[in-house]
Amino acid sequence: MAKRIVILGAGESGAGAAVLAQKQGFDTFVSDMSQIKDKYKNMLNERGIQWEEGKHTEELILNADEIIKSPGIPNDAPMILKLKAQGTPIISEIEFAGRYTNAKMICITGSNGKTTTTSLIYHIFKKAGLNVGLAGNIGQSLAYQVAECNYDYYVIELSSFQLDNMYKFHANIAVLMNITPDHLDRYNYELQNYVDAKFRIIQNQTNEDAFIFWNDDPVIQRELHKYGIHGQYYPFAEKKEEGAAAFVEQNKVYFTRPIAFNMEQEELALTGTHNLFNSMAAGISANIAGIRNECIREALSDFKGVEHRLEKVARVRGVEYINDSKATNVNSCWYALQSMKTKTVLILGGKDKGNDYNEIAKLVKEKCSGLIFLGLHNEKLHAFFDSFGLPIVDVQSMQDAVNAAYQMAQKGETVLLSPCCASFDLFKSYEDRGDQFKACVNKL
Ligand code: ADP
Repeated sequence: MAKRIVILGAGESGAGAAVLAQKQGFDTFVSDMSQIKDKYKNMLNERGIQWEEGKHTEELILNADEIIKSPGIPNDAPMILKLKAQGTPIISEIEFAGRYTNAKMICITGSNGKTTTTSLIYHIFKKAGLNVGLAGNIGQSLAYQVAECNYDYYVIELSSFQLDNMYKFHANIAVLMNITPDHLDRYNYELQNYVDAKFRIIQNQTNEDAFIFWNDDPVIQRELHKYGIHGQYYPFAEKKEEGAAAFVEQNKVYFTRPIAFNMEQEELALTGTHNLFNSMAAGISANIAGIRNECIREALSDFKGVEHRLEKVARVRGVEYINDSKATNVNSCWYALQSMKTKTVLILGGKDKGNDYNEIAKLVKEKCSGLIFLGLHNEKLHAFFDSFGLPIVDVQSMQDAVNAAYQMAQKGETVLLSPCCASFDLFKSYEDRGDQFKACVNKL
C-alpha cells in the first residue's frame, strides 16, 4: 500500500507539497483548519488530490505515515501534539521537497534581511544565466517547483519555523544574516530555542559546502562553536578582518574568496549599512557558485530592491516618503533610521511583539523631528517616547497617519513608515499596510 502523506495547511507550501506527494505516488490528503484559497483548491482538484477545509478530521489525519506541516501551524497546536504523542514524523515542505531533487540549494535565514538577500542572490544567478528557482517564504513553493520544473539551483528563504521541521535537508550554501530576538512567543520565550532553530540551516553540511555568516553579530559569535560546523566558513564584516570573505575598506567592498575582486560601495544599488551586509552575503554566494565577478558587480548595482523594504514612494513638496512596512521588529527599524540622511517623521506602532524600544532611543533622539503612533494600543509607545519632547500624533488609520505626517514634515525632511510592530491590529498584513501607505501618499 502506498505510504500515506497528510499535509496540514493548504497555502503555497502545503498545496505545493501535495502536488509533489501525489506525483511521487503517495496516498495524499490535505487538511486545513481555515478556508483554502480558490487557487490552491483548483491546484488540488485538477490533480484529484483529496482535501478538507474548516476542520481537521482525526480519522483522516492520525493514520498518516508522515505529516507535512505548514510553518504557520504552531508546534503545540492540539493536532500536532496528538501526532507527536503517537510518534508520527512531522516535517516541513522544504524537507520533503529536498528528497526529490539533486539541485544545488542556497538557503538564507536570519532575523532580518532574508527576503532582500534571497532576492538579490536570485537576481545575480538569473543575470548570470543560471537555471534557478526562487522558493521558501517567497516565490512559489519549493515542492511545487521540484514537481513541475527542473531547476539546477534553488535560492530559498527559510524562516525559523520552516527550519524547525527540517532534519535531513542539506544546504550547499547556507547564509545566516544575523540573530536578534524575534518570534519568541513561538519559542517558549527562550532565545536559545530560536538560536537553535536558526543554526539548523547548517545541519548536514559537509566540507564541500559553504557557510556564510555575519561575523560581527554577537549572538552568532557566541553560539558558533556549539554546533559542530562542517561547511567552509565565509564570514563577512563591515571592516577588514582576518579571514573575512567580504569586507569594506576605504569605501570599497572587497570579496576575497574563491575569486578576489572589489567594487565601489557607492555602486551598490541598495543603500544603508544593513543592505551592505545583504549585498556582501549575496556577492559571496554568487562568487562561490562560480559566477563571473563582472556579472556579480553589475547585478549588485542594478538590483531594483524589494517592495515594502525602504522603498521610495514619492517626493511631495520637498518631502521624501519611504515605505518600510516590512520593519515588523525594532531591529529593522533601527537599520532604517540609521540609513536616514535627513530629519525624519517616523510612523510606528501596531501589534507589539514584546518590543524593547531602548534599541532605537538614541537614533530617534538624533534623527526624528516627530512621531506618529499608528495602532489600536499606543500606551506602550507613549510611556517610552513621551519624554523625548517630540511632537506626537495618535492615529488609527493610514489615511490619518499620512495626513498627520504631511502636516508635520518640513521641506527637506523624510517621512518613514517603519513600524517596529506587526500589522494585524489595523491591517491584513504588512503588505496591506505598505500598499495603503503608498496609495495615501500618491494621493497627496
Ligand atoms: P526578512 O525577510 O528577514 O524579514 P527583509 O529583507 O524583508 O527581511 O527586510 C525587512 C526589514 O529589515 C527591512 O525593511 C529593513 O529595515 C531591515 N533589514 C534588512 N536587511 C537587514 C539586515 N541585514 N540587518 C538588519 N536589518 C535588516
